[in-house]
Order: sequence, then structure tokens, then C-alpha cells
Amino acid sequence: MTEGADLERFAAYHEAGHAVAAVVLKLPLERVSIVPSNDSLGECSLEATPKCVQDGARSPTGSPEYNKMWQYTENRTVFSFAGPIAEGRAKGRAKGKDITLAALSKTSDWECEVCSEDFESLAFVRDKAQSELEELLGDKAYNLVYDSNNWAGVEAVAEALLEEKELSGSKVRKLVQEATRRCLSN
Ligand SMILES: [Zn+2]
Repeated sequence: MTEGADLERFAAYHEAGHAVAAVVLKLPLERVSIVPSNDSLGECSLEATPKCVQDGARSPTGSPEYNKMWQYTENRTVFSFAGPIAEGRAKGRAKGKDITLAALSKTSDWECEVCSEDFESLAFVRDKAQSELEELLGDKAYNLVYDSNNWAGVEAVAEALLEEKELSGSKVRKLVQEATRRCLSN
């Protein structure tokens, strides 16, 4: 394979990792693409953060709104980690802590090096015992990506991305469902 084809394949697995995590965590996946732009090899976008979640940041600690915001943020963080982890798995990396999450996420700016995602919305996670949270949510992201059903979904989405370059959120949800069903019947 040429170097370009390799890059595209790893970008497809990277973006598929984000996309499948979004489906599993019920985040509002909008679309996923491996069409390169100036500063990235692909992109996985969610719909705008729901208003109720935004409101939660201003709600009292422990209130239902606050908890909802926190749950969303947790899932959003796992979603962010899942891309680099899936890319690592596609490159043959074993599940584990052989690579630090800091290296995965370039902690200082919470940017995903493939997607150049903007993690500004997670600024408050950074202020809150960052390393412990990263540990916990990193574990969650590793477990999600290395789950055999979910990995079947990542493979299906990556293959479809290589073919079509861009997929809608509903197409991804359908692919993940089919892959999971195949997995269970085996
Ligand atoms: Zn990414």
C-alpha cells in the first residue's frame, strides 16, 4: 500500500472510532468524513450541544440538570478518546496503557491530532482533577473500542468510509446495528 492509502485507512479507523462511540453513548452524531481539509485528515461531528446540557453548567451541583450536563461531558470525553484508540488498534496496538492518554489527546490543548477537534467545551473537565478523570474515562474509552461488538462496528464504518468518504449519522447507526447483529449471531 502507498503511504497515502495507509494514512487514509488509519483516518477511516480513527473517525469510525469516534462515530461508533457516539452511537454507543447515544450522542447526537451528525456526520463523519475522511475528506481531508487544511488541518485534518477527517472529521466526526456532533450536532450542537443540547440546550438543556448547556443550562446544566449553571445549575446547582447535584441537580438533575447538572447531572445531565456532567453525563454528557463524560460521554463527550470518551467519544474524543475513542478515535485515537481505534486508530491505535487498527495499527495493531494491544489494549492497555502502553500509550498514555496524555499522548493520545495532547492534554494541554485537548486537541485530537487527526480531527483537530476543538475541546474548549471541556475546559471545566480540565480544571477538575484532570488526570484522575482521564484515567477513568480513558478506561471507559478503551473498553468501548476493544469490545468485540463495538469493534465490528468500527470495522464496518471504516470500510464504508473508505468506500464513500462521508457518512450521515443515521447511516452510521444502521451500520453499527447490522454489525452488532452479525456479531451476536456468530
Ligand atoms: Zn479525532
